[in-house]
Parts: sequence; structure tokens; C-alpha cells
Amino acid sequence: MSQGLITAAYIIAAILFIASLNGLSSQESARKGNLFGILGMIIAVIATIASSQVSGLGYITVAMAIGAGIGVRLALKVEMTSMPELIAILHSFVGLAAAFIGFNSYLDHGILLGAAKTIHDVEVFLGIFIGAVTFTGSIVAFGKLSGKVNSSALSLPGKNWINLAVVASTAFLLVGFVSGDMGITALIIMTVIALAFGWHLVASIGGADMPVVVSMLNSYSGWAAAATGFMLANDLLIITGALVGSSGAILSYIMCKAMNRSFVSVILGGFGNEAVTQTGDQDYGSHYETNAKEVADALNAAKNVVIVPGYGMAVAQAQYPVAEITKRLRAKGKNVRFGIHPVAGRLPGHMNVLLAEAKVPYDIVLEMDEINDDLKDTDVVLVIGANDTVNPAANEPGTPISGMPVLSVWEAEKVVVFKRSMGAGYAGVQNPLFFNDNSEMLLGDAKASVDAILQNM
Ligand code: NDP
Repeated sequence: MSQGLITAAYIIAAILFIASLNGLSSQESARKGNLFGILGMIIAVIATIASSQVSGLGYITVAMAIGAGIGVRLALKVEMTSMPELIAILHSFVGLAAAFIGFNSYLDHGILLGAAKTIHDVEVFLGIFIGAVTFTGSIVAFGKLSGKVNSSALSLPGKNWINLAVVASTAFLLVGFVSGDMGITALIIMTVIALAFGWHLVASIGGADMPVVVSMLNSYSGWAAAATGFMLANDLLIITGALVGSSGAILSYIMCKAMNRSFVSVILGGFGNEAVTQTGDQDYGSHYETNAKEVADALNAAKNVVIVPGYGMAVAQAQYPVAEITKRLRAKGKNVRFGIHPVAGRLPGHMNVLLAEAKVPYDIVLEMDEINDDLKDTDVVLVIGANDTVNPAANEPGTPISGMPVLSVWEAEKVVVFKRSMGAGYAGVQNPLFFNDNSEMLLGDAKASVDAILQNM
């Protein structure tokens, strides 16, 4: 393929990627956005491997077939609730690829002199650094999200000094590498430091802040790809990496704002965070256990109902009977709405996707800020598999979720909480809501509980 054709293909692919991001910004156009993304990627891959610079097509085809086979298998198998882990592990591959390409580009860069060599060296150094941080950070995120690693925040003594020492030593190594005094030794030492730094950065972030970490690693993987694009002089990779990097950074910022967290503190691994002094394990007294018949009666008597879904609804796949209850209550003239916390579930927009899948109308699905003021005038709130996002302990200091805005469901006349046990949520903080006088627990799998209510309505 001629260079002109490749450039044209790259421009078309870049436009399709931008259209894809635009499509993904709303639920109605998300499917179209996905299609644009797929089309852009097909064009990008074909144009890249058809370029005269690329040799060894046989190896590339075999590698792509194996990779695509594994990818298709994983995508078909993965549960919606395990998507964040899959995303985290895929980010780690991007990081690892960037680090390998960095070394490759250092060892085999042809003849470069003067400013061109300096620029190339900086690209290599930064590409490997960002790639290595992304690699180990994503592996820790994978461990935390899949429950293989404790999700609470690691707090090494003097962790902020450790981070500062990393920044200072990396800057020193960069100077040594670019000046040519230290050669590959600087790269190897920096890689080891970056690997440890990535691990420390994500290990220092507590359970409730993991959504920000996922989008932050998404952003890092984009910058790692962009750095790779610079090393390989591939314009499309630079554009794509910058799109992923900046959209991930914007998402991290939005999530930090929604969770009342400092963006700088989160990207620096919890820099300046308050110490956690309590987990809310204290004795809150006794709770009241209700049953499906009582909840059905309360719903039949209510005028205003708000449903607050969380991770447990996704685990139980309860969105279909929840949609059915909504339909029936609305047919009886009741005002039914949903309240969605920005970090409910395990990935941004998780609840919106599930509710859309079950055909719940978009206009009754409201954001936390849109519904919070109405909760005090609500007769019944059904909390279906949500926990941290409705935990009043967030309003007290000293817990891992302190300062995070939550849905103030306790202000409603009655709250029914659907879960299997009295256990804590993802952040490990016990929930005093369960013990309030106006709270009732409907214990059991959320889908079975909602089905039982439907039979009693
Ligand atoms: P939580 O994860 O805090 O709690 C979910 C609750 O669901 C649990 O207490 C569990 O209790 C219950 N549950 C689990 N399975 C079932 C089932 N089959 N039937 C009924 N209940 C069930 O949920 P939230 O959505 O309120 O909060 C999300 C948390 O995840 C936040 O801390 C957030 O920071 C974090 N997070 C969010 C991400 C995102 O991007 N949205 C990404 C990573 C983390 P029990 O075991 O007793 O049934």
C-alpha cells in the first residue's frame, strides 16, 4: 500500500475513533459508537500491516489469530460484573507492550544524531516508565477488583516520601540516560523503580476509590500507547493514545469530583489522604428482617418509590424482575424512579447498562444529584444490592469512604435493603443504615427476593 493511501486510511480511522467516543457519550448512540470504533480499528490494523515498513507478515498473522482467539473467548465468557478486572488486565498488556517497544526502540533505532537522538531518548525513557507503571499498577488493580488482593489501602510509613524519592531518582536517571553517561543501565534501574512505583501507587488506594484508579490506568495506558506511537513514528498510534489518555483523565477527574476526592491525591496514590481510624464495625443494635409479602404490601400502599441498585443487583442479575416490578407499579399509577450513584457497581455506568438491557425507560433513571433532594418525600426506597453508595458512615470522618457523597436513602419513610447477609460493602465499612428504625432487611439473593415480591403483588 502506498504511503498516501496509508495516511488517508489513518485519517479515516482517527475520525472514526473520535466519532466512536462521541457515540459512547450517550446510551442511545453507544451501539453506533462501538461500531465506529470497530470499523476504525479494522482500517487501522489493515493499513498498518500493509505498510512497506512492516515485514514478517506470517508471524504477525499467526500472533493476531492467537490474540484474537483469546480475546473473543474472554469477551464471550466474561460476566458483566468481571468487566473491570478484564479491563485492568488488558491495560497491563498495553503497559507491558509499551515497555518492550521502548527497549526495542533503544536497541534498534538506526542512526540518530543531535536533537533527534535526544528526543528519541526522552520518548524511549518516558514510554518505558509509563508502560512499567501501567503494567504493575494494572496487575494490582486486577487483584483488588477480583478479590484476590485485599482492597484496603496500603499505607507504608512515609509513603509520600517514597513517591517523592521515585520522582527525584527518575529525573536523575533521565538526565544520565539522555546525556549518554549511563546508557542502558539507567533504563534498567528506572524500569525496576517504575514497576515498584506502579505497584505502590495502586496498592495505596483504598477500595472505594478503585473506580478512579480504573479510569486513571485507562488514561495511563493511553499515554503509554501514545509514547509508543512517538517511538515508532506512527501518527495514528499517537492520536489514538492521546484520545484514550485524555478521555481517561477526564473520566478520572469527573469521578473524583463525584466522589469528593482530590484528583491530584488519587493520581499520586492517596497523597495527603486522612488516616483511616475506623471501619464502622461497632455495634449498631438490632435490625428488622422483613419478607416479600410485607414489601409487596408496602409497595402497593406507596405513591412514590425510588429504587437504588448496586453491585448486588448485577451479581444476582435481578434487573429483569426489577424492570417488571417497575412496569407493574407504574401501571398502578405510582411514581417510580431510579437513583444511580456514580460509582455503583464495578464500572462507570454499570447500573445504567443493566437497566437499559432490561428496557427500563431512560427518563426515570436519575443521577444521585438529581434524586437526592426528593428522597425525604419518598414512601419506599428499595436498595437492591447497594451498600457503600448508601452508607451514612461516609458522612463521618475516619472511614475509607469518608467524604464520598452517598444517596441519603435513610431520609425516606421506609427503606428496604435487599442483600444476602449483614456483611459490609466493597470498601469493608459496616453500614449503620441497616439498623435504623425505618430500615428493613430482605435477606437473600436479590433476584429471588424480587421474584417473590412479584408473586405477592
Ligand atoms: P457494594 O459493592 O458496596 O455492595 C454490594 C452489596 O451487594 C454487598 O454488600 C453484597 O452483600 C450485596 N450482594 C452481592 N451479591 C448479591 C446477591 N446475589 N443478591 C443480593 N445482594 C448481593 O455496592 P455498591 O454498588 O453500593 O458500591 C460499589 C462499590 O464498588 C463502591 O465502593 C465503589 O467505589 C466500588 N467500585 C466501583 C467501581 C465503579 O467503577 N463503579 C469500580 C471498582 C470499585 P451480601 O454479600 O451480604 O449479599
